[in-house]
Amino acid sequence: MADPVLLICGPYSEEEEARLRNALPHALISGSGEIGGLPEATRATIRALAYKGHHGVGAAEMDALPALGIIANYGVGYDSIDVAAARERGITVTNTPDVLNDDVADLAVALTIAVARNMIEGDARVREGRWAQEGELPLNRKVAGSTVGIMGLGRIGREIADRFAAFKAQIHYHSRSEKETPGWTYHDDPRALAEAVEIMVVALVGGESTRNYVTREVIDALGPRGILVNISRGTTVDEPALLDALEAGRIAGAGLDVYLNEPDPDPRFLKLPNVVLQPHQGSGTVETRRAMAELQLRNVTEFLDGKVPPTPVT
Ligand code: NAP
Repeated sequence: MADPVLLICGPYSEEEEARLRNALPHALISGSGEIGGLPEATRATIRALAYKGHHGVGAAEMDALPALGIIANYGVGYDSIDVAAARERGITVTNTPDVLNDDVADLAVALTIAVARNMIEGDARVREGRWAQEGELPLNRKVAGSTVGIMGLGRIGREIADRFAAFKAQIHYHSRSEKETPGWTYHDDPRALAEAVEIMVVALVGGESTRNYVTREVIDALGPRGILVNISRGTTVDEPALLDALEAGRIAGAGLDVYLNEPDPDPRFLKLPNVVLQPHQGSGTVETRRAMAELQLRNVTEFLDGKVPPTPVT
């Protein structure tokens, strides 16, 4: 049988692309939007797709690749892949869970502290030479010992909770079902979680099933001392409602790594002094991106070897 052909849809770093090409010499590169534009004879040879990005792989892209057997996503969140359409066509979808939990959880804690301690203004005051003239920062908020709510106690949510537990916080959480925890407080309702805590970190999956899960009501329930941190997907939070609440001071602040419109978030965010904004860099360390790339490649190669890939999406 001819060597399997891999289609690479990026953007990948040079190192990542080289690793894929080394493992599968018959690799082609294309943007996901351009799949249909490849010659039909080429499309017919493609058995695996190494996908990275947020453009999306839907039924049309899958139908353009009649021999496709696997879509291996680079990343744990696979909301841009139409999994139902893949299932109907017998295509396996895989992702890269667990290897990125620590980095995303670290960033959630960093965002929380950056907001509570007004670190962006602190940095600017030193950097711009305003310290001597303007003096100390106004006193800020203590994070250690506060009440922290995790919206979605999955793999990443649990790592975030563990970190805040080490900060002597009281941990509350909302999930669809109660989990085994070291005595953390469960809320079966998102609004009840928001009412109970001062800091709320969203760690839900993205996609249609959780769109606007954090509603205007939930945001308002956080209250004027509330800090909202989102490291999940922009879709999980009602973003216009969040902007309204931040502008009106109905919540204290927000730390965000994800937005509805990436990479050009709503410009209303840019005017707010009480937010800390990051460019979707949750898993963006050398070590973790390497581990994600390795796991993606293992999924592809094991599938092509006729084995069950290690991390299929269920
Ligand atoms: P996970 O283990 O699957 O946990 C996801 C959480 O979402 C679980 O608590 C789950 O609830 C909840 N959930 C799933 N479907 C739901 C529904 N229909 N309604 C309500 N809750 C639902 O996922 P993970 O590995 O922790 O990753 C979480 C998300 O983080 C990813 O999907 C991705 O979007 C995001 N992420 C972001 C970055 C970044 O760079 N910022 C990096 C990696 C991942 P139950 O507990 O009830 O099952």
